[in-house]
Amino acid sequence: MNTLLSEKQYDIAVIGAGIAGSYCADRLQAAGLQVCIIDKSRGTGGRASSKRLANGNTLAHAGASAHDNAGTASSCELGAPFFHLESQQLLASVDRWLAAGVIAPWPAADQQNQSAFTGTPTMSALTRHLIQHCDFFGSEKISIIERDGNAWRLLNDSYQCRIQAKRLIITAPAAQSAILLSGSAAPEAWLLDAHRASLACAPQWATVVSHSSNLVLSQAEIDTLQALPAVIEFKAGPIARIILDSQKPQRTSSQFQWVLQADQGWSQRVIDADNQWVSEQLMEVFTDWLNDQQDYRFESADFSCLPAHRWRLGRHHSSTASASLFDYRWSEALGLAIAADWLGEGSVYAAMQSADNLVKAILASE
Ligand SMILES: Cc1cc2nc3c(=O)[nH]c(=O)nc-3n(C[C@H](O)[C@H](O)[C@H](O)COP(=O)(O)OP(=O)(O)OC[C@H]3O[C@@H](n4cnc5c(N)ncnc54)[C@H](O)[C@@H]3O)c2cc1C
Repeated sequence: MNTLLSEKQYDIAVIGAGIAGSYCADRLQAAGLQVCIIDKSRGTGGRASSKRLANGNTLAHAGASAHDNAGTASSCELGAPFFHLESQQLLASVDRWLAAGVIAPWPAADQQNQSAFTGTPTMSALTRHLIQHCDFFGSEKISIIERDGNAWRLLNDSYQCRIQAKRLIITAPAAQSAILLSGSAAPEAWLLDAHRASLACAPQWATVVSHSSNLVLSQAEIDTLQALPAVIEFKAGPIARIILDSQKPQRTSSQFQWVLQADQGWSQRVIDADNQWVSEQLMEVFTDWLNDQQDYRFESADFSCLPAHRWRLGRHHSSTASASLFDYRWSEALGLAIAADWLGEGSVYAAMQSADNLVKAILASE
């Protein structure tokens, strides 16, 4: 039985439609190669995706439609809320995305002379834009990669071949890349790198809080809330960072909406806890913090909070053990490559830079 998603033999298949994978797909397609991109999630963005807040209290994936850039007033970012331009290398790409209207500066999140940008109208808009000319296959988990002559075969859990391509780029988080690499023709050193990097990736809880629709805020309260910083970082848990999500450019929510990102150490300790319980813990700290900032007294009931989202694979932290001269892996002989944040500093920008350097290396070998 033919189980292929497409009869085409692609020049390049990319596993993972997060920032790194989408960036590679866009640049390689623009260079004239036939590219497809596959993700186990329904939509794009990976750890920089957006969630639609449906019916006021449930989460849906806002990146679900690959070619629909329609914004939504009620979505939020539970992963990367923005990224910083850490060097000038990607200036040309950033200018293109600004011109396309899929990112915008968010000066409220600038840090140490680094400009901050966020996707518009949601973070997922950037990855949706990047994959628009490629064949995208969502809800498709690849479990095995096999070298067959001069091509790669991508297989699912049932050992069915789904995609065939001359070359393959893996952009999954380190732990998931290690699973794909083990038993494949990839160099052993790559597998070791992936295992090592996966140890430097901690889980993280995140949730979103908005003021309850039956809470009528006075003008003085609105002024106070608006005057609070858009991004607040804490030294000790359980909350690591509060982001005023509704203040990002082109968000049109009429409610104040904050994303609470839990501390990674705290998250690790309670990673198997009930997500409702986690939300309640974060909400309590949030309400206390808010009441410390101003003269009014808010109660927990004045806000609604979604059951927390558990990132089992959260943010990668680069360690000296995993630091390497190259932020990508490429074997021309095998037609196999890796681009990902975990080969760099574990940020959106690191994922972009890894992808950019890999694309240059692949095109130089054409
Ligand atoms: C809570 C949180 C807050 C963060 N805050 C920031 C921040 O403020 N600034 C910043 O720069 N960065 C931040 N980050 C980090 C940032 O999100 C990541 O560094 C970046 O998005 C990684 O991009 P990537 O493409 O390398 O990986 P990913 O986004 O993880 O993309 C990999 C994709 O591969 C897919 N995949 C994995 N395995 C398979 C498989 N077997 N088959 C098919 N598909 C597969 C996944 O579904 C995923 O979509 C944050 C991350 C988290 C979790």
